[in-house]
Amino acid sequence: MHFLIGEFAHESNAFCAHPTGFEAFRQREWYAEGDDVLDLLQGTRTVVGGFIDAAKRGGHSLVPTLVASALPGGPVRQEVFDDVKHVMIAGAQRAEALDGVLLALHGAMSVEDRAGIDDPEGSLVAALRQVVGWSVPIVVVLDLHSDTTDLLLQSADLTLAYNEEPHRDAYDRGVEAVERIVQIRGGEIFPVRSREQPPLFLPAINMATDHGPMHDLHQIRAELEQLPKVIDISLHGGFYGSDQRDAGLSVVCTTDGDEVLATTLARRLATEAWARREDFIVPVMSIPDAVRQALAANEPVGLIDECDDPAGGGSADSVAILRGLLEGGVARGGMSTVKDAEVAAAMAAAGIGTELTVNLGAKTDTLHGQPITVTGTVATIHTSPIPTDSWTGTTYDAGIIGVLDVHGILAVVTQHKLVTENIDIFAPLGFDVTQVQAAGFKGLGLHIRQALAGKIERFIPVDGVGVTHPDVRKLGTFRRLRRPVWPLDDLPIDAYPPRRDSSQ
Ligand SMILES: [Zn+2]
Repeated sequence: MHFLIGEFAHESNAFCAHPTGFEAFRQREWYAEGDDVLDLLQGTRTVVGGFIDAAKRGGHSLVPTLVASALPGGPVRQEVFDDVKHVMIAGAQRAEALDGVLLALHGAMSVEDRAGIDDPEGSLVAALRQVVGWSVPIVVVLDLHSDTTDLLLQSADLTLAYNEEPHRDAYDRGVEAVERIVQIRGGEIFPVRSREQPPLFLPAINMATDHGPMHDLHQIRAELEQLPKVIDISLHGGFYGSDQRDAGLSVVCTTDGDEVLATTLARRLATEAWARREDFIVPVMSIPDAVRQALAANEPVGLIDECDDPAGGGSADSVAILRGLLEGGVARGGMSTVKDAEVAAAMAAAGIGTELTVNLGAKTDTLHGQPITVTGTVATIHTSPIPTDSWTGTTYDAGIIGVLDVHGILAVVTQHKLVTENIDIFAPLGFDVTQVQAAGFKGLGLHIRQALAGKIERFIPVDGVGVTHPDVRKLGTFRRLRRPVWPLDDLPIDAYPPRRDSSQ
């Protein structure tokens, strides 16, 4: 068979002041068109890597349109959305005798306000549908932190969300998408879907799938998926930074021709999620208290900053924890990471061993606190790409990475934003993180705990500043999101499922 493939992935944080332009896709994650897509992603454990391998194994041919993926940040610029959409549509128009379309979309994209697009992914898939018609199946793979809309689901034949957080199953879902599209095209299965959306708008702080509420929900999901006629049940956690009408948790159940079963199962899992809603909330500690606890412990303690998470749209330049470590009297510490292009360049120019006084951090916007003036010694300079994690085989180029030793606290300063939640960033820079009393890490605690397992066992989520705060009530004013939703609004336990539902 002959499949069109493409990827357009961005998690857009509505509270992030800077829109995401082409440079973010081209320089800071990946962008490729045509056959360059195969060169770029073949052999990686990404969704598109899964498309490529499974197609090859099945003897299918691929028409790559483009792949564009950027780090989370502000809403995507309108011209980027229009251009990417144009390239995909033109690819679909040019392709002859297509048997299907395979897409990797994050599912939490927003386009800047002036574009007036409330549902970018839905409108993209709907536009592709118009080109390929209804006889050519479209299968879409989405992130676990995706939002879903009726337009998106109605425009695709099948949507599959990652089942794992961290997202180690991206590749597997890509492979599965190919297997499913072959079945759909061959008339072996007839997917029908139901989408259930309880009034839930959850932070990402406790969505790990190997423990906690998401783990329990995925156990139920896996059991329900064993029932006859069930093709897939996807549990979309939603993205807390989305200010889109339909943002938030949703369940999509796809069955082979049985709409009633799809509705029943989607509602069953959505009801289970609603019942566990309090379990998704994790308290955070003030930074001074966390530093005191770390100093009283006789083991290294990690302070987790989910408030300035570069993987959620944070600017990665808050120095709130670094300030706390210095003021709290930590003698051996670490801070990963502070994005500050100016200071990184000054450190590289000064060279290793040089003492510098710098005004560090909080330069991107006014939402990530105040800079701090520190004097330190340049301990190392690193300029090669850093592994993204231990499973996709991808690396990330953050430009200059310098370590500034500020009275024993190793501050990792980067030229570009760097996501380090899935690695021990100190190791490739030549430092042993087990020697610290306390170190700050930006990102989701569940990733950081796994990345540092065996090195640091004790972690404290702290109350920092930034656009990814795990208390969603602190993020800002939501203008488009449907209301009421919990926990932004106080809803009683019997608010879901609806007692009288006219659609039943
Ligand atoms: Zn995600």
